[in-house]
Amino acid sequence: MCSPQEAGMKAVGVKMVTRSRSRGPGVGPRGSWEEAAPPQRGEAAADGRQNHRPVKRQRKVQRLRVAYEAADDDSEEAKGAKPLQAPAWEPQDWRQQLAHIRVMRSGKDAPVDQLGVEHCYDASAPPKVRRYQVLLSLMLSSQTKDQVTAGAMQRLRARGLTVDSILQTDDSTLGALIHPVGFWRTKVKFIKQTSAILQQHYGGDIPTSVPELVALPGVGPKMAHLAMAVAWGTVSGIAVDTHVHRIANRLGWTKWQTKAPEQTRAALEEWLPRELWGEINTLLVGFGQQTCLPVHPRCQTCLNRTLCPAAQGL
Ligand code: SF4
Repeated sequence: MCSPQEAGMKAVGVKMVTRSRSRGPGVGPRGSWEEAAPPQRGEAAADGRQNHRPVKRQRKVQRLRVAYEAADDDSEEAKGAKPLQAPAWEPQDWRQQLAHIRVMRSGKDAPVDQLGVEHCYDASAPPKVRRYQVLLSLMLSSQTKDQVTAGAMQRLRARGLTVDSILQTDDSTLGALIHPVGFWRTKVKFIKQTSAILQQHYGGDIPTSVPELVALPGVGPKMAHLAMAVAWGTVSGIAVDTHVHRIANRLGWTKWQTKAPEQTRAALEEWLPRELWGEINTLLVGFGQQTCLPVHPRCQTCLNRTLCPAAQGL
């Protein structure tokens, strides 16, 4: 697609001159571009032919149009032909691979299906409290198994889990409640800081945009996109955690091997249809928990074993 500036560029005619050559007797043996020898004086007479005027080289002028040129108003192109566009990249077998993963995940019996963020908040709490609990469970979940996060959320909710209740809980008590989630000491600090910001600037609710969410202490892009989806019902981007990052690279769903989840998110969002963005996190997380394990993936039982570039090397 061309930019407005490019579209407005003055059409610059590019003319290509080609030489039209007869493949007559003077043309080289392979009919190539070898120069035809002009008939020598007297040769034509010896052939009994009339002596013609010197052969005038024919010139054929073709006009090529550069992609960003505007077509002439009366040309066929101006009457509806679409400009050429480079085909967008997408992984070769991704539709079949995705269909296989859906089949393998149809039981919905992975830990994420029972204990993921959608199952950690109190559905009967006021909306603002529910959204806060969604964000808190996401903060607890990084580097932590779903079972451990769910246990911590259960203990917190038993005391009434709101912004105010967390701010009234001392650090050591909060630490004891969330232990053994990964990096629990750091998370105590981040949860307190974030809760104070939410109380002061958001009336105890959570922000409504990814930039505001990632500005909170201890909240990363994956958490922000999941919070937007679960708490606000808005798909803002693909939530890429370690499972999605690993599996996308194994399946060849990134144009290049990516080094970090944020690179993977950007690479996936370039080609994956937007209507699938909301589905892909839970689908791949559960697949990574049950089949495409970080170490010793179960390729022998995976429906993608013949379509997966990584299957042979694992
Ligand atoms: S074949 Fe193996 S590496 Fe590839 S998606 Fe399946 S489990 Fe993962």
